[in-house]
Amino acid sequence: MNKIIEIKNLNKSYSVATNFWGREQKFVHALNGINLEICENEILGLVGESGCGKSTLGKCVLKLEPITEGEILFKGKDISVLDKNETKEFRKKTSLIFQNPYMSLNPRMKIYDILREPFIVNSIRDKKIIRERINEVLNLIKLDQSDLAKYPHEFSGGQRQRIAIARAIMMNPDFIVADEPVSALDVSIQSQIINMIIDLKQKMNLTMLFVSHDLNIVKYVSDRVAVMYLGEIVEIGNKDELFENPKHPYTKALLSVVPKINDKGEKKIILQDDLPSPYELPKGCKFHTRCPFALERCKTEEPKYYSDTETHKTKCFLCE
Ligand code: SF4
Repeated sequence: MNKIIEIKNLNKSYSVATNFWGREQKFVHALNGINLEICENEILGLVGESGCGKSTLGKCVLKLEPITEGEILFKGKDISVLDKNETKEFRKKTSLIFQNPYMSLNPRMKIYDILREPFIVNSIRDKKIIRERINEVLNLIKLDQSDLAKYPHEFSGGQRQRIAIARAIMMNPDFIVADEPVSALDVSIQSQIINMIIDLKQKMNLTMLFVSHDLNIVKYVSDRVAVMYLGEIVEIGNKDELFENPKHPYTKALLSVVPKINDKGEKKIILQDDLPSPYELPKGCKFHTRCPFALERCKTEEPKYYSDTETHKTKCFLCE
């Protein structure tokens, strides 16, 4: 399969304090040694607790945040060395779906103008082309022609998120980051939006990084899933591998507390303490301060990735 995104040894840190001479002294280590690939027509789900670095990764992949070290390739090309024209083309071929449809749509603009924005940004002014494409996308997201003359406040949260998705797919992008796209919506509406994303993936051959803290949603929408902890991918695999046969204690803990319809009374793994500070990452395995199965060596040695299949990798000594 064609690789659309390749992330190699990606590190991202933010300087948060400087000393008297202005030299950087304290850093937040947001992303630590990320290696990932996302192939054409694939949805990769990215899960983890708030503050683990999921959204930062999404922004880095879209070149909205500079990276500290490593490489991000889009269709084989390093996005950090794109010139002005190439960056413009990259922006045309990628897009972002925001979490909150109440904030992401300008309340003073009519829906037609909101949907026309991507054309303006890309210097496309032909009214016929714009109108035809907007009509095509309206059909895909099941909104009516008459909706184009309305303002965002005239729509429900679910409809607003449809409009935001319509804007994101308007230029027929090759890659989309969806950052918690349903977490601001009522549960009853979430499934409609998720089904629409799956439908669009099939119809438009979409490739997507789907960021969420909700494992049930990720399970439903994704082809593969990566679990993130303190800026690291601790486990990655095909959806079934990860949900049926989780290996990393963190993944097991996350899955054990997901509400299930047929709950057989399985033991819940409740993690002690909060996420450690990203200012001072724990030595050894970064999860050892909360891991119920930690060994002595976990405090000092960093585990590598162990594979039980070609696609399923886990960063834990228990899989050695
Ligand atoms: Fe737990 Fe050790 Fe595995 Fe880390 S390497 S997840 S601390 S058992």
